[in-house]
Amino acid sequence: MRVEADVIEVDAIKEAHPTAIGIACDSCAIEYSLGDYQILKDNKKLIYFLFLPADKNSSILCHDCFFRKIKKISKGEQEVELTVTAKEDIIKILFTPEEMLPEDYDNDEDGDDYLGLF
Ligand SMILES: [Zn+2]
Repeated sequence: MRVEADVIEVDAIKEAHPTAIGIACDSCAIEYSLGDYQILKDNKKLIYFLFLPADKNSSILCHDCFFRKIKKISKGEQEVELTVTAKEDIIKILFTPEEMLPEDYDNDEDGDDYLGLF
């Protein structure tokens, strides 16, 4: 299956919503000010994705919820082709649903090595 998403950039939020002060995940509601998000994103600690399902409205998801969601919807699939647009870059990654969230994911204190991809 194919999944498409955009990395949400602080600059793009400010451009689209000049009065916005923060961003929140539509699933778990984790919320940060735009300033904090920029810092977390620069340090590869947190990324909000704009998830673009073909059949539904888009949603804003933190990377945690994003990868959990993909794992859930890709159950039974052989592989997932994830296409992420990050600024001008288009990053394509092939996953098997099992590798998407490794077993030790929740214990990974350094967090989320794959965030370096984006
Ligand atoms: Zn979330």
